[in-house]
Amino acid sequence: MSVELFLIMSGIKSETYVISIDIGGTKSAVSLVSLSGQVLRRESEPTRPTERTPFGTLESLVTLTKEIIVQSGIAKESLIGVGVSAGGPLDRETGTLLRPPNLPGWEAVPVKCVFEELLNLPVRVENDANATALAEWHYGAGRGARNIVFMTIGTGIGAGLILDGKLYHGTNDLAGELGHQTILMNGPPCLCGKRGCLEALASGPAIARLARESMMYGRHKRVLALAGGNPNHITATHVVDAAKKGDPFALGILEEAGTYLGVGLANTIMMLNPEKIILGTLVVHAGDLLLTPARAAIAEYAWKRAAERCEIMPAALGDRAQDLAGAALWL
Ligand SMILES: [Zn+2]
Repeated sequence: MSVELFLIMSGIKSETYVISIDIGGTKSAVSLVSLSGQVLRRESEPTRPTERTPFGTLESLVTLTKEIIVQSGIAKESLIGVGVSAGGPLDRETGTLLRPPNLPGWEAVPVKCVFEELLNLPVRVENDANATALAEWHYGAGRGARNIVFMTIGTGIGAGLILDGKLYHGTNDLAGELGHQTILMNGPPCLCGKRGCLEALASGPAIARLARESMMYGRHKRVLALAGGNPNHITATHVVDAAKKGDPFALGILEEAGTYLGVGLANTIMMLNPEKIILGTLVVHAGDLLLTPARAAIAEYAWKRAAERCEIMPAALGDRAQDLAGAALWL
């Protein structure tokens, strides 16, 4: 269902607004967004988890939110609530962050209680992959589909599942951990403590590691130059940029990572039979450099009937995804 049709059917006027708060590992953002998907204002600031207490960070985000509301001049009655997206694990019901790996020191932080108390607005909290899946479904590449998988490939690999027209959470909010499916038995170690996970083979840090490990063969000049000559500074972006210039070493690394990604997607297709798999972050930047080997692996490892029915596409919202994630929690 389109956002416009949903708003009409549920009697919600399109000039209804939501405050969207994204709490990230390095930066946090507050946005004022209309439910029809227009971003009116946006401010961001460093999260600084080590220099500030979690409560100090939340207080600062409350101040930023109040400033944005005042500056926008919108009537308080048109603001229906606050949507918070943050790295999991979290308890959705109580809106408590449970020691997310990207926020060291944040143990059992009751985000929902704090924001409700200080902002006097109802608050919904969701993990960032799920919230972005909802945003891509309502406003982006997933519009009109009933079964979509959204997967973000960045520092980690996270996913959100929309199944039969609903966000699927699983028994205790752990559905969609597709980055931690095993692709290579006894493969490289993963930050989760297991080995050979998709995240250890196709995430940004995994691509950078592949580049560093392959240096011993001496085919690394362009990638190393982009990293300022220091192998420890190599990132996946350097590899993608070198590959875009036709560097064969970088192209080979992306082909390997893209193939692992495709094996993970083939497993996902066989398990869920989705209409669309929407890939964010690194795939948006790398495009076909990752998608072509991924599609080849899907053709090899998934059944043709399921693979043919599933569109593999880059995410559409770009920088707006963060802002719309919180709004999508209120649709
Ligand atoms: Zn893992």
